[in-house]
Amino acid sequence: MSLNDDDFMRYSRHLLMDDIGEAGQEKLTQAKVLIVGLGGLGCPVALYLAAAGVGQIDLCDPDRVDKTNLQRQILYRTEDCGELKVGCARDRLHALNSGITINVLAREVDVDILNGPTLTEAYTAVVDCTDNLAARQLINKTCYEHGIPLISAAAVGWEGQLVAFDFRRYRQSCFSCIIDYKSTEPMMNCSNFGVVGPVLGVMGSLQSITVMRMLLGFFEQHGELQRYDGKRGQWLTMQCAIDASCPICGPTDS
Ligand SMILES: [Zn+2]
Repeated sequence: MSLNDDDFMRYSRHLLMDDIGEAGQEKLTQAKVLIVGLGGLGCPVALYLAAAGVGQIDLCDPDRVDKTNLQRQILYRTEDCGELKVGCARDRLHALNSGITINVLAREVDVDILNGPTLTEAYTAVVDCTDNLAARQLINKTCYEHGIPLISAAAVGWEGQLVAFDFRRYRQSCFSCIIDYKSTEPMMNCSNFGVVGPVLGVMGSLQSITVMRMLLGFFEQHGELQRYDGKRGQWLTMQCAIDASCPICGPTDS
């Protein structure tokens, strides 16, 4: 699929760049990205990927907009309270860019969703913007098994963390290497501990950039781990450790 006249105008700032250009824009246009969770992280991720022209964006979230969301979830308006997040998000994203396909999945993420639009048409990347550990582990396991790039982030208080895996090319190191697979500890999350809105904006923007790096072929750091401390204005970038006994990516007995 080649770019039309409207695309040349809309994406002109990408087309001006030597390392994106028409070929890079077509890679974005052909991509199918699943965003799981449309809260404080999912909102900026969806906005930036839609604006960038990612050709298909699937939105997965069972929740409805609540007044307590509006402090940080930048896709929603006061009058959206009580409406499904995925429906409001689809309308806003289509108003931003009607040239892309947006599918909505108003339910909890499950294996059927992660398997992709059809069994032969897997997602190009999955963006984990959830706030629950069971969903994160399921997303990690399925992306690992299907060789789908995974970009996962979390934020609480003033701090955010992002970890990204290119399972297309690498098989060692995964989300379960850093968070015990069987852990039943409730994760610290925004609803229990509070969060500063723009920290989610920073981390969601970082997730969008990481998706673009994956889609354009610039991502080399499998297991890249980034921490942001908004209160002190500090960044830390490191490499996710490999757990040799990881139940997902560790060696099998057979
Ligand atoms: Zn692992």
